[in-house]
Amino acid sequence: MNIHEYQAKQVLKGFGAPVAEGVAILSADEAEKAAKSLPGPLYVVKSQIHAGGRGKGKFKELGADAKGGVRLAKSIEDVVANVGEMLGNTLVTKQTGPGGKQVNRLYIEDGADIDRELYLSILVDRTVGQVAFVVSTEGGMDIEAVAEETPDKIITVAIDPEAGVTAADIAKLNAALELSGEAATDGETLFPILYKAFVEKDMSLLEVNPLIVMTNGRLRVLDAKVSFDTNALYRHPDMVELRDETEEDEKEIEASKHDLAYVALDGNIGCMVNGAGLAMATMDIIKLYGAEPANFLDVGGGASKEKVTAAFKIITADPAVKGILVNIFGGIMRCDVIAEGVVAAVKEVGLKVPLVVRLEGTNVELGKKIINESGLNVIAADDLDDAARKIVEAVKEG
Ligand code: GDP
Ligand code: MG
Repeated sequence: MNIHEYQAKQVLKGFGAPVAEGVAILSADEAEKAAKSLPGPLYVVKSQIHAGGRGKGKFKELGADAKGGVRLAKSIEDVVANVGEMLGNTLVTKQTGPGGKQVNRLYIEDGADIDRELYLSILVDRTVGQVAFVVSTEGGMDIEAVAEETPDKIITVAIDPEAGVTAADIAKLNAALELSGEAATDGETLFPILYKAFVEKDMSLLEVNPLIVMTNGRLRVLDAKVSFDTNALYRHPDMVELRDETEEDEKEIEASKHDLAYVALDGNIGCMVNGAGLAMATMDIIKLYGAEPANFLDVGGGASKEKVTAAFKIITADPAVKGILVNIFGGIMRCDVIAEGVVAAVKEVGLKVPLVVRLEGTNVELGKKIINESGLNVIAADDLDDAARKIVEAVKEG
């Protein structure tokens, strides 16, 4: 689960991180009051969407010459004018895809005078099995480009979970970020604070890009992106409250209600599979035959007919889906339950695209019988290879 920048800053502030004062607004008439509550004379008006690259983004409605999704304003009137231009419009950034995202919230923040823009993130480094800081002096811009062109400018410092952030770690981070004087002293307090926030809130990513050194020599968290480990959300009801469903994929929200492991993808073949490994193998083999999966979906082990029905409905409701592949290896999952779920879903919502079903394992004969007697127009398949080939062919013909 992701949250907005202003929410992430609020969370980090609670741990003692230095962030600017700011006010989030949902409507233009809140702009003046929000700006007046800040010290000024420099303000920043920031689009709150769950995507980065806002500064360099463009509003669809405003044309290529208009300013981006993060704007500096030098007076209260300037704030109000920018809010009027930005709110409700669609911001397209490198991360939103060409469709962009509608900006429904703005964050009005006290502006900082920047000396240097740095990069800092905390993530779970799988290669060492530890939480690690990733830092670079090249912040503020596209960190992927830095990683690509000058990878030596990105430095990783893994943290021993027993020891936490040690003095040696702090020294390494300060050196990597070329911090000295007051900024280095700020780093001493900030790095452990960010680590604590990451661990205590079960974050999977905490990205501060940029972390800035201000002209007064102090550090400030200027941008903040936080993702939480979904499996640990039950421990953080206060973080769940920050969820903004308008930013999420509708299909994924629906899937999460049914406790389905579902991820929307860009292709056009919808997949319903049991078991994460089989789901990945299914996606691979679809790609092998030259097509792209529209989703990852694992209905799990002991799924009920209702759960299978919900899953199938999510797939069929996706206009991008031009064909469906049901691939079940019934172990704990029974093929007849899958068949009943598919038939029930089709009865309810219809079926407008080709459907290939491959069933194997527990109660396979009963499962096939249910499908055969349902009158559904199903293309039967013998094995996974056959199934993938058939659905790719059917979609190409359609
Ligand atoms: P992103 O483009 O979505 O990553 O949004 P950021 O919050 O990182 O802002 C983009 C850029 O706007 C930053 O890299 C800064 O250069 C600039 N910016 C943001 N806030 C301020 C501020 O308070 N003062 C100044 N001078 N620039 C800012
Ligand atoms: Mg940024």
